[in-house]
This record gives sequence, structure tokens and C-alpha cells, in this order.
Amino acid sequence: MVKNGAPKVIANWKMNGTLDLLSTMVDDLSSENLDHNIIFCLPFPLLGYAFVKYSNIILGAQDCHEQEHGAFTGCTSAQMLNELNIRYVVLGHSERRLHCNETNPLIKQKAITAFQNGFFPILCVGESLDVYNKGDSTSFVANQVKELTSDLDFPYAIAYEPLWSIGSGILPKMHEIVEVINCVHEIAPDIKVYYGGSVNSANAFDIAHCKGLYGVLVGGASLKSDELISIVKAFDQVTQHSSN
Ligand code: PEP
Repeated sequence: MVKNGAPKVIANWKMNGTLDLLSTMVDDLSSENLDHNIIFCLPFPLLGYAFVKYSNIILGAQDCHEQEHGAFTGCTSAQMLNELNIRYVVLGHSERRLHCNETNPLIKQKAITAFQNGFFPILCVGESLDVYNKGDSTSFVANQVKELTSDLDFPYAIAYEPLWSIGSGILPKMHEIVEVINCVHEIAPDIKVYYGGSVNSANAFDIAHCKGLYGVLVGGASLKSDELISIVKAFDQVTQHSSN
């Protein structure tokens, strides 16, 4: 079970990537000695391939089923992922909420099943643009976190991902990210909070300075080695500086 020391950068490849891209990326990261600093949330076929081929990278899943096993065509269980030595799983990403109708109760059940199979779940929350424009981000996220985590008595992380920031190139102001982090910590004081939404090499350093933030969940930029390397380095630099 993963309790401490989770990598600070989560690479969410979504339904992107090839064997060639993975091979190039692993080479690039190894040459910088950064292969252990990222959780690679790859599409399922690439996870199986990476498990066999690369023992030096940390793998994560983008989803798992809420049931242990059974007649669920096209689905993947936590137990199957556990056999591939995967210990992290992103759950409730907004794209799954939107396209697969995932709800907070379902995501919570997935987290419980994942934990029972040895996982550290990373639970995604975040408000729409409409909610943001009304100034209701913190209360919206607080409700999501409460619904997802009430009575959970095992380790998990929260990924705060404003829906309108994902893939758009537009970010909240840094103080707004900090406000949401603070409100998550009021509900769940000791948990790790990641931020996700248009993180790239140009803004990683500023984001890494957000008080209370643990790390970042990166989509588009995680498909480019140089971007990913810069993001990891920004977090390393800020973490080293703040621990001196
Ligand atoms: C994501 O995949 O959750 C994400 C934040 O994507 P992007 O970094 O491309 O905005």
C-alpha cells in the first residue's frame, strides 16, 4: 500500500499515446534520472505493455470498475490492475463523469474497491465555468469532497481540476487554487491535493508555489518529454527550496 512519498506529477495520457511514444519517453526520463518521479496513467493496453517492459516507471490507471469481477464487458477490475503492480488509480475524472455518467456515489464505491485491492485512489473534483463565474468554486468542491470521502478511513488524494481549465490553456488565479486547496484541507486535513488543468512548463513553477499543494495532474503536456521533464524539475526545485 502506498501511503507516503507519492510522486508529485501524474501524467494522464487519456486515450492517447503509442508504444513508440512510451519507449521514447521512458528513455528521455531515464537519461534525466526522473523515471521515478511521475505516475504514468496510461491507457490499459499500454499499462500491460509497460508492466512487462519497464520496471523503472511508476504506473497508474485512469479508472477501474467498482465491482471485483463479473459480467462487465469492456471493463477492467482493480484486481487485474493490481496484478500488473499498479498502485495508483485516478477516479472520477471529469471526462468519465461527462462521457460515462459517473457520479459521486459510484466514484466512492470505486475508491473503496480500489483500496481493498491495494490502491491509492486519486479522486478528481472540480467546478464548471458557470459555477466558477458565480464565485462558488470552493463550496462546490467542498460538497464534492464531502460526498466522495465521508467515512472513508483509508489514504487517498484529491485532484482539483476545474473543468473549464482542462485542455483549455486557461487557469484559475493562483490564489483561487490555494483557496480551494484550503477548503479541501478543512474537510480532509492530511491528504495530498493535486491541481490539474492546463499545467505546462511555462506555468509549473508558479503552480508549484501554491501553498498546500502537493503536486499536479498533467494531461496534454504529459505527452511531450521536454514538457514533462520541466514540470518535474519545477516541482523538485520548489520542494527542495521550501524544505531548506
Ligand atoms: C487532465 O487530463 O486531467 C488535464 C488536466 O488535462 P490538461 O493538462 O491537458 O488540461
